[in-house]
Amino acid sequence: MQSNAIETKYEPVIGLEVHAQMLTESKAFCACSTEFGREPNHNVCPVCLGMPGVLPVLNKKLVDYIVLMGLATNCTIAPRSVLARKNYFYPDLPKGYQISQYEEPICRNGYVEIEHKDGSRKKIGITRIHMEEDAGKSIHDRDAETLIDLNRSGVPLIEIVTEPDIRSAEEAYLYLTKIKQLVTYLGICDGNMEEGSLRCDANVSIRRKDQDTFGTKTEVKNMNSFRYVEKALDYEINRQIALCESGEKVVQETVLWDENKGITTPMRSKEEAHDYRYFPDPDLVPVVVDESWSEKIRTRLPELPAERRDRFVADYNLPKYDADVLTVSRELADYYEAAVQVLKSKNDRSAKNVSNWVMGEVLRVANERAVSMSEFPIPPAHIGELVNLIQDGTISGKIAKDVFEFMLEDRQSPAEIVKKRGLRQVSDISEIESIVRQTIETHPEQVTQYQGGKTKVLGFLVGQVMRATKGKANPQIVNDIIKKLLDVV
Ligand code: ADP
Ligand code: ZN
Ligand code: MG
Repeated sequence: MQSNAIETKYEPVIGLEVHAQMLTESKAFCACSTEFGREPNHNVCPVCLGMPGVLPVLNKKLVDYIVLMGLATNCTIAPRSVLARKNYFYPDLPKGYQISQYEEPICRNGYVEIEHKDGSRKKIGITRIHMEEDAGKSIHDRDAETLIDLNRSGVPLIEIVTEPDIRSAEEAYLYLTKIKQLVTYLGICDGNMEEGSLRCDANVSIRRKDQDTFGTKTEVKNMNSFRYVEKALDYEINRQIALCESGEKVVQETVLWDENKGITTPMRSKEEAHDYRYFPDPDLVPVVVDESWSEKIRTRLPELPAERRDRFVADYNLPKYDADVLTVSRELADYYEAAVQVLKSKNDRSAKNVSNWVMGEVLRVANERAVSMSEFPIPPAHIGELVNLIQDGTISGKIAKDVFEFMLEDRQSPAEIVKKRGLRQVSDISEIESIVRQTIETHPEQVTQYQGGKTKVLGFLVGQVMRATKGKANPQIVNDIIKKLLDVV
């Protein structure tokens, strides 16, 4: 009761900074490979090792990718932007500065639309998107030694900074999910959180709802799980409210989320904050993206998730829920559409049936095995063929589940499996009739009961016939024949 009253008195204000690693083959300013997981210090050269006297050369693909993201998030693309040095000392930064963008970033003033659970939509402003290079990695090993791996040094990143528009930890989660969806649809980032391809710094403050100005913010640093971001923000919001309620002040500081303890701990306060002394990097010319270049990139924009979802509803007459699930990732949406391609009858029901199989069995197995759709053992065309077999009466829906299990094992097409394993549904009337006659003969007691008015026994008799045919008889035909035979006796 009391905590409710306090919660309605305050509102959180959140702004997020997301780093996304770009899927270029080479680094941002040299030709070294960006491949993850190689032996430490193997993807290095004098440029990314920070040797004196070397010259960086900007990777053109990084510019293509960041402009693509800028266009997808409704940003203005600066015709001229500047690469700047961000100076600080750290053992994993041999140059003593990181190449980034500061006063003149390449993308500005965009927005991303999120959708709440109740279907209402909200625009989150994008202040800027700039490019920068990653630093190396310090590895603190067990012998209390610190080792440096510079494979990551110079790997291209983009940083996407929002306006302070986010008003709850849940909205932050929705926004991050949307960003991941966008970068993976665009094919510019693999979205792999475990490998650190997406990392988030979350800025949060609280204010009284009747207050216009923002409160003092804290920053939760470097999280690579969206659920952690959500939990850390909830924790910080409650901690800041408690401070205000007890008459204390929020101190501007950087904190770290401790997932095991479920708390944040201070990392450094503003007094020790860095002064990066940004200045334009004299080694690099300004980045000039003229109209024709950005228009060329615009033509490469793929169908984005929201458009694709709307098209799924329109083209396949799917419920919005299905369309949302199926377009969560580009891979899954591609899988669904490839399956629909092979449908023989392209009516709404068959497209919905494919959706049921993909959302049901396919996603269940993909989750259980923790595989992505590109690694999924069943090619999408086989799912379409399976639905064809059900619809033309070759197999029953129940047998189809067994066929699906076999498809997971031996990669054959459903038609081959049905043939090899003799799973074809028996619809041949004379064949079924002879089995029904046998069943009637061996169950005189149930037959008498049925004819005496206990019509429920019909289910039992149908079950016996289905058992005799190992589930392959067409149940409707079995029903009809039993009735026909017993009603005339
Ligand atoms: P800093 O100078 O501390 O880096 P910026 O103004 O660059 O702060 O903003 C960094 C991020 O913090 C942005 O995403 C911005 O929206 C967010 N932000 C700024 N002020 C606040 C605030 N008072 N409360 C919450 N978030 C904020
Ligand atoms: Zn290099
Ligand atoms: Mg800042």
